[in-house]
Amino acid sequence: MIKKRRPARTQILVLLPWLILALGFGMTYVLWQNARQDAMRALEAEFRLWVNKIADRIEYRLDDYVHILRGVVGLFDASEVVTRQEFHHYVEALRLGERYPGIQGIGFSLFIPSGQKTAHIAAIRQEGFPNYTIHPEGERAFYTAVVYLEPFSGRNLHAFGDDMSSEPVRWAAATRARDEGKAALSGKVILQQETAAGIQPGFLLFVPVYRHDDVPLTTIEVRRAKLIGWVYSLLRMDDFMDSILRSFDFNELWSNLNIEIYDGVDLLPDTRLFMLHPVTTAITANPAFWAVQRFLFWGHPWSLQITSTARFEAKLLSEKAILLAVTGSISSLLLALLVKVLTSSQQRIAAVLQQTARINQQLSERERDLLWAQRTAQLGSWSYDLLTQQPAWSEGMFRVWGLDPNRGTPAYDAHREFIHPEDWPRFNEAVQAAVEQGEPYRLDLRIRRPDGEERSIIMICTPHLDEQGHVVKLSGTNQDITDRKRLEAALREQAIRDPLTGLFNRRYLDETLPRELHRCRRNGEPLTVAMLDLDYFKKFNDDYGHEAGDTVLRAVGGLLQRFLRSDDLACRYGGEELVLILPGATLSTAQGRMEELRQAVMQLHLQHRDNELPAITVSIGLAMAEPEETDACALLSRADAALYQAKEQGRNRIIVANGV
Ligand code: GH3
Ligand code: MG
Ligand code: MG
Repeated sequence: MIKKRRPARTQILVLLPWLILALGFGMTYVLWQNARQDAMRALEAEFRLWVNKIADRIEYRLDDYVHILRGVVGLFDASEVVTRQEFHHYVEALRLGERYPGIQGIGFSLFIPSGQKTAHIAAIRQEGFPNYTIHPEGERAFYTAVVYLEPFSGRNLHAFGDDMSSEPVRWAAATRARDEGKAALSGKVILQQETAAGIQPGFLLFVPVYRHDDVPLTTIEVRRAKLIGWVYSLLRMDDFMDSILRSFDFNELWSNLNIEIYDGVDLLPDTRLFMLHPVTTAITANPAFWAVQRFLFWGHPWSLQITSTARFEAKLLSEKAILLAVTGSISSLLLALLVKVLTSSQQRIAAVLQQTARINQQLSERERDLLWAQRTAQLGSWSYDLLTQQPAWSEGMFRVWGLDPNRGTPAYDAHREFIHPEDWPRFNEAVQAAVEQGEPYRLDLRIRRPDGEERSIIMICTPHLDEQGHVVKLSGTNQDITDRKRLEAALREQAIRDPLTGLFNRRYLDETLPRELHRCRRNGEPLTVAMLDLDYFKKFNDDYGHEAGDTVLRAVGGLLQRFLRSDDLACRYGGEELVLILPGATLSTAQGRMEELRQAVMQLHLQHRDNELPAITVSIGLAMAEPEETDACALLSRADAALYQAKEQGRNRIIVANGV
């Protein structure tokens, strides 16, 4: 199958909407990516802000708590002895529960050199705690003992008398505080809770209490020597963090971030101090935002890990990006659609134009053909609108009528000038019948052109009717048939004439004689037939040649034509036999005229090739039609018989046939 290739322009038009769609989507993608990157940067900044804020608050809060302990230390610094009662009042006044959430208790742990253990126990028991002792029990180089712990109730009572030097995590912080003369944060400890929630991680803050005298606390040795004990606080990690995080918009924080705090620098489950979301909550496996900050809080390292939640990452799909993607896609689609509509209508228009051009070309070819056909056929076409009275002539019409097209179509009345006066009534009548009764016509009539030439024309007219049957328009053709008519006449002449003599031929005689017989009988006229035969013509041919014989035949033919009257007919009946029909001639008239003819033939002086030809003679048989005679053959036979007699009687004479 042969496929028609589309022209390049059409191919571009077909592809254009797709190109625009691809370009539109491409641009939308780039813009969307940019918007996403902007959103990413904005989120990154937001995330960093969160991380910094949270880290700062933790630090501030720890510092706050250290300040509280310093206050308690101040109490010890101010008076030589702080009684249980004073301690109780002081801590109670701090209203830990409401103002410092997370602090499970504030206590004082006394450093007891080994020699003072017994006295110490006795002294405390003296205060009204008969079962008081230092635990764990056993002999050690020194002891520490929790002597005050506020609120002094519930589980805190169990800690009364605890020697923290027996517990490495607490002791590491306590010794650091003692040696450095600063607050110290402990590692992760497990705190017993009064609440139903049970165990939760916690930590302790220690601030050392020294005896003050003239020797400054500049060295470790001095600090160790002057140590009285430690003011410390127990902190529940969850409560501690809760109080910090609640200072933010907690719900927002909770939905956007996960916060974990680890004791030390390693992020291990065992060292985890705090986790905002329970492990069961779906937290993004690979968070988009992740930050770990390591701090040294009062000599002890903590790691803060903050990651983004799915909710936070969803902000990546910023409204701007979504709006861009949606409007970009829709605009691209609409634009492509618009271009598609425009290009396809343009294609349709181009196709229609192409088709119109093709049709126009076909029309002009047809017009040319028609023109050619009209010229060849000497034909013109016309129409006449009866409503507007507007005639329309083709170029051929002007040629047929010999009129100048530049002078416009002639009005109907002007036709009279050109149409033969004899034919005008027929024409006028036919036109009236066409206009009034819708009668078509076909007329063969003559016109006289402005140059005076007479032409024969065939006029054809077809009336056109409207729905009510009224004639609204006439149309038709005019064809010049002059040449055809001439040709027909020539052919007709050829068919009835003898070419050598110019006389009618025998066929014409056979057609005409019965008609003439009939006419003369009807008119009551006589009709005589003369049959002529040249004498001794065979010999003449033999003596002078056939061509000379032809010259004679031509001369006799010419003589006859000159001799005849208007109604007479002369025919060459056979080789050198001639027949004359003489309508209106009686036998005697005919005899007289034939006698003249016979003598005229004898007196013909003919030459052939400069040779004088001898005189020739003719024998004639005459027969007249009987009044009621209709048989042409019989009449001719009688004339022939009379001719035979003329030959018999010596030739060069006229013999009249007897009656039938
Ligand atoms: P008759 O007097 O008895 O008529 O003698 P004839 O020789 O004329 O005899 P007939 O009429 O029988 O002869 C006819 C001759 O006419 C025969 C032929 O040679 C001659 N003829 C017939 N047609 C033509 C023709 O077209 N041209 C010439 N040159 N001769 C013709
Ligand atoms: Mg003869
Ligand atoms: Mg003869």
